[in-house]
Amino acid sequence: MADRIAEEKIEQIRQAVDIVEVISDYVGLKKQGRNYFGLCPFHGESTPSFSVSPDKQIFHCFGCGAGGNVFSFLMELEGISFQEAAMKLAARGNINLEINLSSAHSEKKISDELQAMLDAHELLRKFYHHLLVNTKEGQHALEYLLGRGFTHESIEKFQIGYSLNSWDFVYKFLTKRDFSPEWMEKAGLIIKREKDGTYFDRFRDRIMFPIFNRNGNTIAFSGRTLGADEPKYLNSPETAIFNKSKILYNYNLAKPSIKKSQQAVLFEGFADVISADRAGIENGIATMGTSLTDDHIALLRTSAQTITICYDSDKAGIEAAFRAGNHLNDAGFQIKVALMPDGMDPDEYIKKNSPEKFRGEVIGASLTWMAFKILYFRRGKNLQNEGDRLAYIEQIVKEISKLTKAVEKDHYLRQIAAEFSLSLDSLKQQEQQIYFAEKKKEIGKNEPKSKPILVQKKVNELKPAYYRAERCLIAHMLKSRDNTYKVQELLQGDTFNEDEHQAIITYLLAFYEEHINPDSSAFLSYIHDENLRRIVANIEMMSINDELSHQELTDYIKQVLKHKKLLKIKEKEAELKEAERHSDFRLAAAIGNEINQLRKSL
Ligand SMILES: [Zn+2]
Repeated sequence: MADRIAEEKIEQIRQAVDIVEVISDYVGLKKQGRNYFGLCPFHGESTPSFSVSPDKQIFHCFGCGAGGNVFSFLMELEGISFQEAAMKLAARGNINLEINLSSAHSEKKISDELQAMLDAHELLRKFYHHLLVNTKEGQHALEYLLGRGFTHESIEKFQIGYSLNSWDFVYKFLTKRDFSPEWMEKAGLIIKREKDGTYFDRFRDRIMFPIFNRNGNTIAFSGRTLGADEPKYLNSPETAIFNKSKILYNYNLAKPSIKKSQQAVLFEGFADVISADRAGIENGIATMGTSLTDDHIALLRTSAQTITICYDSDKAGIEAAFRAGNHLNDAGFQIKVALMPDGMDPDEYIKKNSPEKFRGEVIGASLTWMAFKILYFRRGKNLQNEGDRLAYIEQIVKEISKLTKAVEKDHYLRQIAAEFSLSLDSLKQQEQQIYFAEKKKEIGKNEPKSKPILVQKKVNELKPAYYRAERCLIAHMLKSRDNTYKVQELLQGDTFNEDEHQAIITYLLAFYEEHINPDSSAFLSYIHDENLRRIVANIEMMSINDELSHQELTDYIKQVLKHKKLLKIKEKEAELKEAERHSDFRLAAAIGNEINQLRKSL
């Protein structure tokens, strides 16, 4: 793959882009010492173990072992090829790749079928929008929208459109442009009749809301009825390009504002997002009729720290908010919950009150996650009844015991004490008891409660001395060509004990044949094996002395060779036993001699 783009172009790209800047688009980074740290986008975690080195232009996660340079970061995060990552970075660094577009096209990962699905959606989005805003056929739909409070601005921003009241308009429109009907059926735009195999349009006489993926491609539609037709909203089915569990409505437009504020507002439906946008809430997003999935959370993690949940305040909405909040809380987000007056959705609230009030008194006055839970657990209980009241207090104290900050615990315990006229001390005591009981249970289970799925083995567990010595040597070799040759010389033809370490050295020697100076990021591009890349990134992040003294060098080499000799001794000891078993005493004596020599040389 790499050789499709000239080496010197790759080099130019590497010079032109900064890994910290690129990764900042996906991960909130904070500087600490020489490096930057943030929450790893490759595994679920709540304390940062993901680090980026601006000096070396590489990243590494101490939690899951992910690591590499700016190319591998994009490849792994977006699931794209080296070529695609290079093209993205080249665009960013204003570098003309001068690659033959037709050859690039033919090796594009995306198939013709998927491309046709995307093209058809794009074409229809434009056409539906044109029908709504410019034509007589769409005029009633436009008036309907304006009458319901939509503005021209949001119709433009969200590219809202209108689908004609026709059974075969889209079918004809697309087939005339050489789109295959089979593919368009797979894309969810037309439906096949069972009885005669002919096709008809899925969306007819509806207000059309395009759904975009995070790159801004139209991948589906939701059509809202103008009258009393059921369903009120008709969505595209799941297709090869539309996967509800991965899509957050408006994420493509909201991302800059989410990143800037590190906050997103999660609404129950996409219509809420559009209403809230009218009130100036630009960081609103919504799932497409599913509950929040791990994929959604992974996407949000790349841009936000705080999520404000703004769901309807009916029973279903409150339950859904509780579930979403727990899910987000487990994933390490800071959570707020914005409550609307009973039975109102954002649209109704904004119309009845004002955009300012929505911003200030709903979103701006959102509750902390704990404050929400205090209200949540109260529902359906009669607190005048002693049994209910005690059960409720116990439940809340249990929730308070999960808080990590002492100040917060104190705050909510005081609140409960005041409300129910209880002694603060006894509440504190109860909280401590629950806290320790839960801790005990956890230790009993011997595992943290929510174990991130992706975490592999602990990267830096205790390793034997030779292992550490090999890694320290590689770390110095990565920093200096001289060191590399010195190590080669001292090894006198011997190799490192770990196959992976030896493979890295082999790569490194080849690299120094072509490059005079060490270059961490360039070296990572040079290695084609992902596992080795991760190991190199891990080693790069080790803290070592700037200079490698002769003493240190020979000590490391000794460790490496010692392990080899120990293995050899073991081998010889087995041979010795074998010789003794066969009563071959001459051989046994010779082997014994060898073993003694080896032992002496340790
Ligand atoms: Zn990680």
